[in-house]
Amino acid sequence: SIPAQPSNQYVHDLDREHVFHSWSTQGALNPLVIAGGSGCTLWDYDGKQYLDFSSQLVNTNIGHQHPAVVAAIKAQADTLVTVAPATANLMRGEAAKRILARAPAGFSKVFFTNAGADANENAMRMARIYTGRDKILSAYRSYHGSTGAAIVATGDPRRVPNEFARGHVHFFNPYLYRTEFHASNEEEECERALAHLRRVIECEGPGATAAILLETIPGTAGILVPPKGYLPGVRKLADEYGILLIFDEVMAGFGRTGSWLALDHFDAVPDLICFAKGVNSGYVPAGGVMISKPICDYFDNHFFPGGLTYSGHPLAMAAIVATLDAMSEEGMVDNARRIGQELLGPGLERLAERHRLIGEVRGIGLFWALEFVSDARLRTPLAGPLVAQMKAAFAARGLLTFTVENRLHVVPPCIVNAAQVEEALAILDEVIGEFSARHAA
Ligand code: PLP
Repeated sequence: SIPAQPSNQYVHDLDREHVFHSWSTQGALNPLVIAGGSGCTLWDYDGKQYLDFSSQLVNTNIGHQHPAVVAAIKAQADTLVTVAPATANLMRGEAAKRILARAPAGFSKVFFTNAGADANENAMRMARIYTGRDKILSAYRSYHGSTGAAIVATGDPRRVPNEFARGHVHFFNPYLYRTEFHASNEEEECERALAHLRRVIECEGPGATAAILLETIPGTAGILVPPKGYLPGVRKLADEYGILLIFDEVMAGFGRTGSWLALDHFDAVPDLICFAKGVNSGYVPAGGVMISKPICDYFDNHFFPGGLTYSGHPLAMAAIVATLDAMSEEGMVDNARRIGQELLGPGLERLAERHRLIGEVRGIGLFWALEFVSDARLRTPLAGPLVAQMKAAFAARGLLTFTVENRLHVVPPCIVNAAQVEEALAILDEVIGEFSARHAA
C-alpha cells in the first residue's frame, strides 16, 4: 500500500530502486524529491521550500497547480477522460481555435501530438511530403527532442549516439559570443551566418531540401536571441529555393519571451510552427504543429501518413483551453515582458558587473542565460562539475535552477513577481560571489 505520510527517504529510495531516468548514467543519480507545489513554489515531504526558477524543463509557464487549470482537467475527467483522435471533440476544437488565435495570419489548422519531439517529427514529415524533397537542414546549436528524426535534427552532442535517421544536415546559427564566423558585431554575425547557410543549401542541393528547421530562439543551446535580420534572411533564402521554414517554438513559445510566440519579436513568418511545453504548462502532456493554409490545402486531397493514439487527448486539450484562457485573463504574457525587461534582465546585468565568473548575460522576457567562464578574456567555459556544484548550492539555499554545460538559464514561470525576482537575485549573487572568488581568473 502507498504510505499515507511518505518521507523524502521513502520516495527517493522507491525511485532509485524502480525508475530509469532520462539522459543519465543510472548508478550516479540522486534525484531531488518534490511532494507538491503552488505558483512559483515547490516543497518536499520535510516541508523544505524551493523557489522554482527553472519552470521544471522550462515548461510550467503558468506556475504550479493553477486552480482553474486543475479544475478544468478534473471537469474533463468527469465528462470523458479519453477518446480516439478520429472523433470530433469539443475541447480539441476549442484548443486548436485558441492556439491559432495566437499564430500569425494564414495558419489554419493544428495537428496535435504528445509532446515537442513528435511535433517536430510530424512537421518534418509534412514538409517532406508537401515538397517531395528529402533533406532537413537544422542548426548545430539546437535541441529538437529525443525521438527518431528529432534527435538527429538536433545539433547538440546528444545527437551523436542517436544518428539513425537519414536526410539531416546541420549548419551554424548565429552566436556572437562564441562566433564561428570571426564576427565582431551582430550585423557581421548575421550577414556571415546567412552567407554560410546559403552555401550549405547550394552544396546540399536546393532541389533536395524540404525544410529548414530552427528554434525561433534556441533555448537549451544557450538562449541565443538571433540578430534582428537573421530569421527574415532565412525566410528569404527558403523562398528563393522553394524550401519550407519550420519554427520550433516548443520552449520559446506561449509567454516565455514576453510575447505569445517568440516569432512575434521578428519579421519572419514560417510555414509550420511546432509547440508543446508552455501551451498547457505540461499539466497533461501535449504538443502539436500549427499548419499554414497552403499546406492544409495540400492535405485536403493528399493522404497524411501519420497519427498518434493520444493526438488531441481530451485531458490535455482541456488543460490547453484553461491555460490559454488563464494566461490571457491574468495578463501573464505582459507580466513576463515587464518583469523581464524591468527587473530580471537588469538584475542579471548587475550580477555580471559584480562577478567575473559571468562572461555574458543574454535573453528576453523570462528567458535568460548566464554564461560562466573561468577566464573572462579567453571566454573559457567554466567546467561542468563546478556548474553542478553551483546548482546544488542554489538548491541548498532554496532556489531551483536550470543549468546546461557552463550556463545557468534563468527561466521562472510567467507569473513570477518582483519580490520573488529579488529573492532569487540575492541567492544568485551570494553563490556566484563565492564561486567567483575561488574560480574566476
Ligand atoms: N524542441 C525544443 C526547442 C525543446 O526545447 C524541446 C524540449 O526541451 C523539444 C523540442 C522536445 O520536447 P519534448 O521533450 O516535449 O519532446
